[in-house]
Amino acid sequence: MSKGKVYLVGAGPGDPKLITVRGLEALKKSDAVVFDRLAGPQLLGEISPAAERIYVGKRPDRHTMKQEEINQLLVDLALQGKTVCRLKGGDPTVFGRVGEEAELLKKNGVPYEIVPGITSAISVPAYAGIPVTHRDLASSFSVITGHESPDKLDRSIQWDKVTNATGTLVFLMGVSKIGYISDQLMKHGRPPSTPVALVRWGTRAEQDTLVGTLADIEAKVLEADFQPPAVIVVGEVVNQRDALRWVEDKPLFGRRILVTRARSQASELSARIDELGGEPYEYPVIETRMTDAPAAVGAIRNALAEPESYDWVMLTSVNGVDFFFRWLEEFGVDIRRLHKAEFAAVGPATAAVLKARGILASQLPETFQAEGLMDSLASRLQPGQRALLPRGDLARRWLPEELRKLGVEAVELDVYETIAAAPQDRMLMEMLLEGGIHAVTFTSSSTVTNLLEALRKMGAERPQDLLHGVDIVCIGPITAKTAGENGLRVTATAQNATIEGLIQTLLDIQSQA
Ligand code: SAH
Repeated sequence: MSKGKVYLVGAGPGDPKLITVRGLEALKKSDAVVFDRLAGPQLLGEISPAAERIYVGKRPDRHTMKQEEINQLLVDLALQGKTVCRLKGGDPTVFGRVGEEAELLKKNGVPYEIVPGITSAISVPAYAGIPVTHRDLASSFSVITGHESPDKLDRSIQWDKVTNATGTLVFLMGVSKIGYISDQLMKHGRPPSTPVALVRWGTRAEQDTLVGTLADIEAKVLEADFQPPAVIVVGEVVNQRDALRWVEDKPLFGRRILVTRARSQASELSARIDELGGEPYEYPVIETRMTDAPAAVGAIRNALAEPESYDWVMLTSVNGVDFFFRWLEEFGVDIRRLHKAEFAAVGPATAAVLKARGILASQLPETFQAEGLMDSLASRLQPGQRALLPRGDLARRWLPEELRKLGVEAVELDVYETIAAAPQDRMLMEMLLEGGIHAVTFTSSSTVTNLLEALRKMGAERPQDLLHGVDIVCIGPITAKTAGENGLRVTATAQNATIEGLIQTLLDIQSQA
């Protein structure tokens, strides 16, 4: 069997967009991914569903894998012919033990690449508004490990030299040694008034910063019970934070928000949450696909056999549009054969995807529910007309019924199916248990019921309880009703049943908090 290859990839500090292009490429194409807790949870969503995911980080219920075991694991996977991604927090060469991993790979003749990452030593301070160098304040910086037993720290770090060698000192893995570190720095000549900052879980929803001086930082850490992982920055640059802090000022800062809609539709919502400083976490509980039920396919074939006969094509969702065009393609129907039909769209998003295909929908309704469509079209609907209604199998029955009342022949086509998805996601369960998910967005009734079902499948006896204390935000009243009926306490419902409406609702509850 041919040997695989190992990519030793820096994942960056946690914000999933801070991985390099090359790193992401390696992550996506790998057959096995070996990761620990410093690799941001969202990045794991980029792993191919077929790939093996191996967690080698600390876990309370199990022993932590020793470094030698990890080294061997990488070799074994590669010798099975796999492409392997060893994903590490920050940069793999900065206290990442990449040397040991690469050494054993080399010994076994396994090819590897080192893909650098953005180290937390620089990026985490930056997210707290602290630049590690500054024209007037610090022209150099050191990155130092704090994770050693105090006596070893004494031996491996030459405090007399390190203390004043550079303007800024950055310590990683040093939270539990903060007292010792500050004592040494003062002992070797740094003034007790020297500013110090600890930045915990930088670039993530949990980012938190504690500022003090060498004299008082230990007491402050103890008082706040400030837990690792954190980057410690020592030096005058820390004071820049007052003027330069930026992340905390974003409106959704600190909020990790669960996005439950289908993967294909999640990106817009996720992008908006990200832009506003929140952290989207995608866990798609529905998937859409082409219908393959013979009856439905037959109905579509028949309906598309005479495209010239339709006076209207009414589309009620973006998916409806996408899948309708896929069926036209499937049956080789030229869109121009629908020349007699006027197109109508429910909602701006549906109209926009039609427009992108060169079709201007004739009427936009005043409200975003199907009821609004009828109000705006009633005067132009004539008895005897034919309307084509391509939609999902879960669409509401209201629209065709109203059309029929007006004497319009409504031809309903189930152009796509919505199916439940319930991928195993241990990270999600852990975050829910630890209060790491702050809000959940529901964009349809099926996202509500499917999420609860998915959590049940992952072992939650009463999934409603897992969502207790999490803000529940619904796109519209029908979704909210389903949530309520399923034992969830809805925090807020969007005024407009659009992604922007949902975003506005997230902002509103945040500003009221
Ligand atoms: N290779 C990593 C460092 C590994 S050592 C890098 O280049 O960033 C692990 C230490 O990194 C942690 O104890 C902590 O000090 C720091 N660290 C990593 N990610 C961090 C984050 N998001 N926020 C705060 N500290 C972080």
